[in-house]
Amino acid sequence: MELRAVKGMNDILPDEAARWQRLEQAFREHVARYGYDEVRTPILEHTALFSRQIGETTDVVEKEMYSFARHGDELTVRPEGTAGAARAYVEHKTHTKEPVSRWYYLGPMFRGERPAKGRYRQFYQAGCELYGDAGPLADAEMIEMILSLLSTGLGIGNIEVRLNSLGASGTRARYRDALVAYFTPMKDKLSEDSQRRLEKNPLRILDSKDPRDREASKGAPSILELLDEADAAHFAGVRRHLDALDVRYVVDPTLVRGLDYYTRTLFEFVTTTGDLGAQSTVVGGGRYDNMVEGLGGPSVPAIGFAMGIERLLTLMPGEASRERPAIYVAPLSDACTSRALVLGRDLRARGVRVEVDGRGGRLKAMLRRADSLGAKLCVILGDGELERGIVSVKELAAHKQDEVPLADAADVLAARARAEVSPPPGEAR
Ligand code: ATP
Ligand code: MG
Repeated sequence: MELRAVKGMNDILPDEAARWQRLEQAFREHVARYGYDEVRTPILEHTALFSRQIGETTDVVEKEMYSFARHGDELTVRPEGTAGAARAYVEHKTHTKEPVSRWYYLGPMFRGERPAKGRYRQFYQAGCELYGDAGPLADAEMIEMILSLLSTGLGIGNIEVRLNSLGASGTRARYRDALVAYFTPMKDKLSEDSQRRLEKNPLRILDSKDPRDREASKGAPSILELLDEADAAHFAGVRRHLDALDVRYVVDPTLVRGLDYYTRTLFEFVTTTGDLGAQSTVVGGGRYDNMVEGLGGPSVPAIGFAMGIERLLTLMPGEASRERPAIYVAPLSDACTSRALVLGRDLRARGVRVEVDGRGGRLKAMLRRADSLGAKLCVILGDGELERGIVSVKELAAHKQDEVPLADAADVLAARARAEVSPPPGEAR
């Protein structure tokens, strides 16, 4: 039987990988300007980290985690990046080294969901976590940072920012009661999951994708009316700063998101193009002021977000493409291959992308390959060239040919490979 990739897990082949790199590079450069540095944490963590932080009654923990026991440990392949980063923040006592930390990460996450366009079992996220700043400035700055990354950095338009505040834990408890009171009379109209969660975690009903729950949620009470004074002041501050930054947003009082750890500000970025269907949320994030303490650390507030790379790539303009070799080296006989290898090495040492054809055989096939790779120059090294101490150089686009002494071929050809417009043959030196 033919072996295939695991369902919901994708190969990213080189043609496509170039677009991934472009996105990742834009992300790294953009968040670096806001002071973020990279953190790399393990893909495996203790299962308890996720079940406690994400929440026992969330979809992720109840249904989606890849968990297993091995060598006496209960382990889970990470479904998201925030809990692992916070675990590392606490474990390394980061708060004793600096009052504010700005971390970013990039990498694969794993959730056993039903695959669809933009929904996979191995998918990639890029995200940021900011520890140690409780003020609304941090929230607004992070939202502006994401928006400018998407628009200016990646060229993605038609994005809507949705904003809400969950308040602190006291507010959530009151909201919970309000939701239980609201949903209980229509309990039998809810999905089975939501009926089960009604008492324990009614906030989850608001985040359900089941049409029955969506319908039932339409008249749900707004959490914004329950915010206490401090939470309301924080939310007003976030909105004031966003206005100052000219960031447009929509306040959505039923936005709760799928992870239990959020407090106060909550946001998501949604594409309004319809390309992604039910997978239209491209970025999700918010404050989680209690997590660091919950993990045994000090009371350090935090805020973060994660963006789905596959979903953003669907929206990012630009063709798939691969880098071309500047120079293709074609050795025409066994006697020439060693010299061709040396020339290839010396050109690479000068920063040039080079491919040496090791297949042997005919010049015609080698030229065809050089052409189809889009090489700028094809350097031909046959017995005749070797005898005369030269190489023949073909300018593939211009269909012109000239010769360069073998002794300084690396210097001359490296310069020609780099030149915007190659000099005409004969003036190469
Ligand atoms: P959704 O509501 O679409 O299931 P989520 O609320 O589970 O998303 P988060 O856990 O907040 O999403 O993750 C942040 C982002 O990561 C999402 O907005 C999305 O872009 C991406 N993402 C989440 N799950 C997947 C997945 N299974 N496949 C691809 N991307 C995903
Ligand atoms: Mg989800």
